[in-house]
Amino acid sequence: MTRIVYVNGRYLPYGEAAVHVEDRGFQFGDAIYEVCEVIDGRLIDEPRHMARLERSLNELQIPQPMSQLALAHVMRQVIKRNRVRDGLVYLQVSRGAAPRDFYFPGPDVLPTVVCLARPMSRAVPAANALKGIAIKSMPDIRWQRCDIKTVMLLPACLAKEAARADGAKEAWFVDGDGFVTEGASSNAWIVAEDGTLVTRQLSSAILPGVTRTTLLDVLHEEGMVPVERPFRLSEAYAAREAFITSATQTVMPVVRIDGNTVGDGRPGPIAQRLRNKFHQFAAISGT
Ligand code: PMP
Repeated sequence: MTRIVYVNGRYLPYGEAAVHVEDRGFQFGDAIYEVCEVIDGRLIDEPRHMARLERSLNELQIPQPMSQLALAHVMRQVIKRNRVRDGLVYLQVSRGAAPRDFYFPGPDVLPTVVCLARPMSRAVPAANALKGIAIKSMPDIRWQRCDIKTVMLLPACLAKEAARADGAKEAWFVDGDGFVTEGASSNAWIVAEDGTLVTRQLSSAILPGVTRTTLLDVLHEEGMVPVERPFRLSEAYAAREAFITSATQTVMPVVRIDGNTVGDGRPGPIAQRLRNKFHQFAAISGT
């Protein structure tokens, strides 16, 4: 449970934490965010998450709300004040609150900063990883700047809900050419029939997942050479293995896509090995 939330310079009880009704995050989805995994009270891959946060802000011309050092301090305070050992920290920055107007407000309007932390049992994803998860494919109806981590997550909510209605845990978005872009809240990977490890190349069509980047480091260390290219659903159905990556799921094996069994229907050996190796390579920050 979240007990304390940071909002614009104050640490408030959860029930009292609020932003203005004219916050641009609320009215326009004019906000960006990061989610960082916390293990043993320590942040996983913090530098990469902070670098992506800075990039998202720059791409949208939202002013940096405070120094990286100050943001790091806020995240640690929120983790401590919520006594989170294992869980996540969520940081959101909107362009701020101003009378509703499409034009950006002037420099007097300060960005809104919200940070909360939440304990999450590692047992749940661990249990899912033993069984593997199911995926449902959905048309990618998102905008053309999916490389920016904005809070405009309605297409992701719709896709996840449709996936859940079908008994699947995650949705994979498919672009107009029939290629998988990424998951609703994860990056998508397959081990193709010929044994090649494939994930889509970075572009404005996908989020540059921090877990994806760190996994590429793991693969490099393991002497594995992944291929970054688009793949079709048909290739995924016929794949030896499939998995997703995200900060909260790490490497999560996929055993079913649109009702088609992947491989032998059990988590694949490559996905399992990479899941076990991941945290040896991720950057672990002290608190
Ligand atoms: N793609 C999308 C659309 C996401 O929402 C996420 C999770 N935030 C990811 C990929 C995975 O990114 P990360 O590994 O940084 O959590």
